[in-house]
Amino acid sequence: MPSRFSIQDYIPAYSEEGCAGALFAAKWPDGFRCPRCAHPHYYKVSSRGRHLFECSSCAHQTSLTAGTVLEGTRTPLAKWFQAMFLMQIGISAKLLAELIQVTYKTAWLINHKLRHAVGEWDRGRPLTGDLQLLGEYYGYEYHRYFSSMLVQGELRPQPVVVGVSLDGAGDVSHVKMKAVDGPEGDHPAVRGGTGGEESVKHFVHKHVAGGEVSGHAELLQPGHHGQSRAHQAWREAMRWLARTFGGIGPKHLQAYLNEFCFRRICRSEALTELIASCGSTKTITYRELVGARSGVRPIKWVFRRPARSQQHIG
Ligand SMILES: [Zn+2]
Repeated sequence: MPSRFSIQDYIPAYSEEGCAGALFAAKWPDGFRCPRCAHPHYYKVSSRGRHLFECSSCAHQTSLTAGTVLEGTRTPLAKWFQAMFLMQIGISAKLLAELIQVTYKTAWLINHKLRHAVGEWDRGRPLTGDLQLLGEYYGYEYHRYFSSMLVQGELRPQPVVVGVSLDGAGDVSHVKMKAVDGPEGDHPAVRGGTGGEESVKHFVHKHVAGGEVSGHAELLQPGHHGQSRAHQAWREAMRWLARTFGGIGPKHLQAYLNEFCFRRICRSEALTELIASCGSTKTITYRELVGARSGVRPIKWVFRRPARSQQHIG
C-alpha cells in the first residue's frame, strides 16, 4: 500500500459542478423525474445556498442529495467523491480525515454511509453457479496468538461464512463474507474442529440465488493452509482488517467485510458502481449506525471471569 504522501498525489481534485453532474446521473439515470408526479422537466432554483430542482408541472422542490446516501450532508460533494475514490483502496477514517480535511467524526460517518451503499449493492447480487463455501471464525487468529489458554477457552470468535462463485476458468466472479450466528454454546474452531454446517446452510438460504445451490458446491474446512479461492479471499480480508484498522469489533464487522468483497468483485469498476449505488440508496443516520443491529446474535468478545461460586450463608 502506498504511503499517505503518495496517496495524496493521486486524489483527484473534483469540482463541485462535476460531482453534482455525476450525482445527478447516478440519482436519475434515465433523466430527471419529479419524486411527486414523475414529470420529466424542472427549473433549477437556489434557496439559501442550496441548489434545488423545481418540477415544472407540480412545483415540488427536491434537492440533488435527497433520497441518496448524501442526503442532509453539509460536506462539499467533492470531498464525498474523494472519499468514494479512496474507498477503492480501503482506508481508515483517521487517514481519510487527514486526506480530505474533515473531522474524524465526519470521515467516520462518510465511510460508513458509503459502506451502507455498498451493503445495498451487495444485497441485490446473490451468489450463483459453482460455489466454494467456507465456515471461518473471525477473531480466532488474534486470540490464538495473543491470549492465554484460559482466555482462549472463554472467547467466542465471530463465525463468518465465506461464499465464492467461480467462473468457467475457476476464477472468482463473486464473493460474499457474512457474519452468522454460530452453533450455540460451542466453538469447534477453537477446539480445532470444523463445524459450522448449520451456518453454511443458513448462508446458502440467504445469499445464494434461489436459496439453494444450483451448480457444484464445495464445502471447505477452515484453516490457514487452505489453498482454495475462498481461503485466499478470507486471508486477504483478514490482512486488510488487521493492517488498516488493527482489527474490527463485531458490531461493524459486516460492513467492513461487505466493503472488502465489493472491491474484490468490482476492481476497476468499483468507483463507478459506488457512485451509482450512492445515488440510488437512501441514507443512514449516525444514530442508526451506532445503534445498528447487524442481524447477528451479539457475541461477547471480552474476557469473562468465571462466575464466583455462591457463598453459602449458614
Ligand atoms: Zn412534479
